Amino acid sequence: MRFLNPPWEEAFSCEFLLILFFRRCSSLDMNSFIRTFATSLLLLWAVSASAAPLKALLIDGQNNHNWKATSPILKSILEQTALFEVTVATSPGNGQDMSEFKPRFSGYKVIVSNYNGQPWSTETQDALVSFVREGGGLVIVHAANNAFSKWKDYNEMIGLGGWDGRNEKSGPLLRLRDGQFVPDTRPGSGGHHGAQHPFLMETRAPDHPIMAGLPSKWMHAKDELYDSLRGPARNMTVLASAFSDKATGGSGEDEPLLMTVSYGKGRIFHSALGHDLPALKCVGFIVTLQRGAEWAE
Ligand SMILES: [Zn+2]
Repeated sequence: MRFLNPPWEEAFSCEFLLILFFRRCSSLDMNSFIRTFATSLLLLWAVSASAAPLKALLIDGQNNHNWKATSPILKSILEQTALFEVTVATSPGNGQDMSEFKPRFSGYKVIVSNYNGQPWSTETQDALVSFVREGGGLVIVHAANNAFSKWKDYNEMIGLGGWDGRNEKSGPLLRLRDGQFVPDTRPGSGGHHGAQHPFLMETRAPDHPIMAGLPSKWMHAKDELYDSLRGPARNMTVLASAFSDKATGGSGEDEPLLMTVSYGKGRIFHSALGHDLPALKCVGFIVTLQRGAEWAE
C-alpha cells in the first residue's frame, strides 16, 4: 500500500536506480551485466507502475447540501495526492428520471459518494453492491450517509446512517462504554445534529493504517457533528469520534464520525464530517479522506 508518497519521491527513485545501474555496469562481465540490466528494468517497471493514478468516481447531482461547491473540493483533495484521477458522475436533478443514471463502477478502483437524493434504479444499486462485494472501494462523505435508508445492502456498506426515516429498525446506536463502542438498541430516530461548531476529534483506532501517526486528538473546523446515527454497524471499526455536547444541542455522547466497514471483498471508508466548505478545509478532514480513499481502493 502506498501512503501519500509525493511525486518527487518516485522521480527520485527512478533516477537513483539508473545511477546504481550505470555505476555497476562499468565493472561487470556479460552475464552479470544482463542480470543487472533485467533487475533494473524490473525495478523501473515497478516504480513506474506504482505511479499510475488510481481511477476514482465521484458521484453527485442530488444532495440537501451544496454539492456543486463541495464536489470540486473533494476532487481536488484526492487529486492533490497524485494518487487519484477523479471523474465526476452527476445524476439527473431531483424529480427527474433516474432510470438512465448508470455509472460504470467497474472502470474504477474507488467510488466516492457525495450523493443524497432519489433512489437509483435496481440495476445501478446492484452494480454498486457487486462492485464493492468483488473488492471495490467506497467512500461515504457526510450526507451520503443520509441516503437510501431502505436499501439494505447500502446500509450494510455504510455501517451507520441518519435521517430518511431511520429508527431502531435500521439498527442500533453505537455508544462508548468502557472505551468500546457497543450497540444500544433503544427505540428512537436515527440521525441528528446540534449547532455547527468546531469540535475535538479523538482517535479510537491509532494503529489503523488510516490513523497511523495522526494526533490522538485534534480540533476539527466548524462542522455539523452528526449524532445518534443508526445502522447494522457490522464489520465496522470506529476510527475517530467526537463528544457531542448537550450545550451545543448534541446528544451528550461520544459519536462515531470516522469509520471503516468491510463488505464482501470490498472496503468502505465513511467520514460523517464535511457539511460545507469550512469543514473541507480542515487538515484532519483532508488527510483522513485521502488516506481513507487510498485504504479503500
Ligand atoms: Zn450537513
